[in-house]
Amino acid sequence: MFEALRRFRQKRILRSAALPDALWGQACAALPFLASYADGELARLRDLVVLFLDAKSIVGAQGHEVTPLQRTIIAIQACVLVLNLDLALYDGFETVVVYPGEFVPGWEYEDEYGVVQRQDDALAGEAMPRGPVVLSWPDVAASADWDDAGMNLVIHEFAHKIDMHDGTANGCPPLPDDASRDAWQRVMRHAYADFRGRVDAGEDTAIDPYATETPGEFFAVLSEVFFADPWLLRDEYPDVYREFAHFYRQDPVARQGDT
Ligand SMILES: [Zn+2]
Repeated sequence: MFEALRRFRQKRILRSAALPDALWGQACAALPFLASYADGELARLRDLVVLFLDAKSIVGAQGHEVTPLQRTIIAIQACVLVLNLDLALYDGFETVVVYPGEFVPGWEYEDEYGVVQRQDDALAGEAMPRGPVVLSWPDVAASADWDDAGMNLVIHEFAHKIDMHDGTANGCPPLPDDASRDAWQRVMRHAYADFRGRVDAGEDTAIDPYATETPGEFFAVLSEVFFADPWLLRDEYPDVYREFAHFYRQDPVARQGDT
């Protein structure tokens, strides 16, 4: 019943709120990894973007004005992750905050000795549990083209959001059953240990060494690689690639042509 109501509501939104063709075209052109998407996938992505923009507010902070193009570029990348999943994975928060540059979150946490510390490092992005996604616009713009930046900030933060959907950002997204969770944990634990070993040994890795911070960061960084440079992930960690393809229900290597 709720599902039927939800679909009815979505149809109504799609009828009444459309994205102008010119805006859609401009936003897609800013995201080179979309070039390999088939027309049918792009059409579904466009519908998801309309629904995402209807459900979320994307607001500027510290005087930053979010343009329609910026809004669309952010929404497209957020929706790429859930293209074959469900937008409900992004339920539980309503706002994306966009800063004119890196920001200092200033939140407090207890360290390993029980002492309260302040997070005073400047960040390019942050996904708060049950709270907003926060992004620095210049970092979103700079990481839209993987070939230039070797990272994708929006995919990273929204991967954290998916990870947090069933609790904490522990590197294990919502999986359908115990068996798939066990398989996921086994593959990810092995790959994480291997990658940490390579970084500790001083190897100059193609995958961002920031992935060694926590299993949650490993999942977020590898999600960026999966969508924006899938061959890299398939070549370095084929088991992880398979788990991701299974979870996200996408096969970006097949989509981009096996080279
Ligand atoms: Zn992160």
